[in-house]
Amino acid sequence: MSTIALDVVTPNGSVFNEEDCEIIILQTKQGEIGVMAGHVPTVAALKIGSLRAKIDGQFEYFAVTDGFVEIRPEKVSVLVQAGEFAEDIDTERAKQAKERAESLLQQERDEKIDRYRAELALRRAINRLDVSKHS
Ligand code: ATP
Repeated sequence: MSTIALDVVTPNGSVFNEEDCEIIILQTKQGEIGVMAGHVPTVAALKIGSLRAKIDGQFEYFAVTDGFVEIRPEKVSVLVQAGEFAEDIDTERAKQAKERAESLLQQERDEKIDRYRAELALRRAINRLDVSKHS
């Protein structure tokens, strides 16, 4: 079976690099896509979500923030602010981030609150908690 390479890059460098993926499942802003070797070249925006890569018959689960993916027939390059393997997610930290964001969002009358940033922080925290269930 031919395989496809994956590289997930953040401002801290490459955080998930694998030469031989059987399939990579990504959540784009248009919906979920599965990518195998030979995929037509594509660029897409990613939403905060999970990335699943099947390696040696097993799925590896990875949480990503929003960003972009470049798909080439032999390689998938993901550019995101942050990404973590399911087993590396600190669930206590994510729960605290979720509570912080929720309480900021409840303070609706405070003009200083940047609701959009709080909503994104909430989505990142919920996503980390969801992905960590696959560890
Ligand atoms: P927090 O408020 O807890 O920092 P955040 O969503 O603002 O959460 P990010 O800015 O997305 O955090 O990420 C900053 C760095 O911390 C990245 O390297 C990311 O991988 C890591 N990180 C964030 N939350 C977690 C977590 N719950 N478990 C493990 N690593 C995390």
